[in-house]
Amino acid sequence: MSKLPNIRRSPPSSESGNAESDSGSSGWEDQNELDDQEETIPVKCVFCDLKFDGGAANVWSHCTKEHNFDWHSVVRSLGLDFYDKVKLVNYIRKNASIVGTIKKEDFESEEYLQPIIEDDPILLELDDDEEDGGVPVDATASVLPIDVSDPAAATALIQTLTQQIHDLETNFANYKKAVAEDYLKRAETSDVVYARPSAVPEGKRDDDTHYFDSYSGNDIHETMLKDTIRTEAYRDFIYDNKNVFKGKVVMDVGCGTGILSMFCARAGAAKVFAVDNSNIIDKARENIFENGLDNIITCIRGKVEEIILPVKQVDIIVSEWMGYCLLYEAMLDSVLYARDKYLAPDGLMVPSECRLLVAAMHDSDYMNDSVHFWNNVYGFRMSGMKERIKEDVVVAHLKPSSLASEPTVFLDLPLHTIKTGELVFTKPFEVEIKENVESLDAFVIYFDNYFSPSRKSVIPANAKAETWAGEGVAFTTGPGGKETHWRQGVLMVQDGVGLLNTGQKITGDLTYRKSPSNSREFEIEIDWEVVGKDKKHKQVWHMR
Ligand code: SAH
Repeated sequence: MSKLPNIRRSPPSSESGNAESDSGSSGWEDQNELDDQEETIPVKCVFCDLKFDGGAANVWSHCTKEHNFDWHSVVRSLGLDFYDKVKLVNYIRKNASIVGTIKKEDFESEEYLQPIIEDDPILLELDDDEEDGGVPVDATASVLPIDVSDPAAATALIQTLTQQIHDLETNFANYKKAVAEDYLKRAETSDVVYARPSAVPEGKRDDDTHYFDSYSGNDIHETMLKDTIRTEAYRDFIYDNKNVFKGKVVMDVGCGTGILSMFCARAGAAKVFAVDNSNIIDKARENIFENGLDNIITCIRGKVEEIILPVKQVDIIVSEWMGYCLLYEAMLDSVLYARDKYLAPDGLMVPSECRLLVAAMHDSDYMNDSVHFWNNVYGFRMSGMKERIKEDVVVAHLKPSSLASEPTVFLDLPLHTIKTGELVFTKPFEVEIKENVESLDAFVIYFDNYFSPSRKSVIPANAKAETWAGEGVAFTTGPGGKETHWRQGVLMVQDGVGLLNTGQKITGDLTYRKSPSNSREFEIEIDWEVVGKDKKHKQVWHMR
């Protein structure tokens, strides 16, 4: 049985789950249309690695000067049409150098219709080129080959130009179609883009294969997408802060279906690298293509630790890496690796801060339903079923009234600065009982998430995600918020401590450490005491 999808990403229960907004229908559809984006994508030389702003014209003049290659005269002398020019560009890019005089036969193969660089901007400019083998189109604007005072000649010229525009549009549409078909073919067959092969070194345990397999099917992604609290928080933050995303280079670590990448592209990002090591990346590619965003988003299959990103740094890292009790799955380790390797020094992490909270719990209904239930099952005792029930963290959504104390933060994770080493920790905590309760049934752990548009934003220490009205977006996974697919971690205590009175305090230390048998699982240890009572308690729970 596959454990990860069952444990990490179970759908919220139907009662409180998805009623409000099935497909995120809170009006964003209307805002999805972008403000006009002016993309100025640098164009790479066909021979060397230099890139030029200002379009193809600058590349061609550089080629003439530096590579002794005069594009315009080659086009004219060989009488190249639109497709020939596409092939010539790809031919040069593929072979990187041209020895001797170039001949049309050298690049007539259909293989050269396939772009060497995905979304190669130079190809998109070929229609602006000297289509008739002579005058560049925009040159007609300043040097008109007619007497403009002659209306008949002007009309004739307009007709000619209109025809030329029509032909160019047809050529371009055909080219886009050919590229699209080719793209789909490649999406179906290709496996690795910019990725190094990922092999498990001999003798090293493989905790990954099952993990990434668990993300390859639809169900787990459907659950996440239908978690509207989660998905809408990302969407709202990204769409509310288009000024932050506009023109930026973004990396989506663990893109899944590509949803966060598409939000970023729609918000005006110039380039998004969508990385995932699960087979779901094939679906992401299709989804991105279907929505016409493949000119902005590039999908890269592979572990973020192993891929080679085609850029040195990115402006923003967006990722939904959170697991049960926040750190289950250990995906944050990968996101921090990506941050340290690729994020620009002033770059932004989305989300920007998470907080882990703990509270005392007393809930007789919950205990009856999950533990005492085994005392009488259709008239039979099944005590054996209870034996290990308190050894594992149970994932469940509680009522606010289940909490016997206010929650308290035991770990703050500022995502721009936190180090991987800090994800294994022991932290002190103290909670205060709100009203007399018969017993301490469990500790409850959950997390809050903050999305700030600036890495300098400070979230006040006493902020509550459910009511936070700061700059940005926040949500809680606690009992005080609408249910998310993470629900809460319930850590039932073995030793009851009897009656607890209002104002009584429980203090202790809370430890998170990786499970010795699987680095994606972990153990939580709580050492605690009721202040004023002598007895010390210690218990370990497994998150698996
Ligand atoms: N961003 C998507 C999916 C989030 S689930 C969404 O918000 O809906 C996390 C995804 O991260 C999974 O698809 C998983 O395969 C991927 N992932 C986890 N660790 C990764 C790593 N080290 N490298 C690449 N992808 C990773």
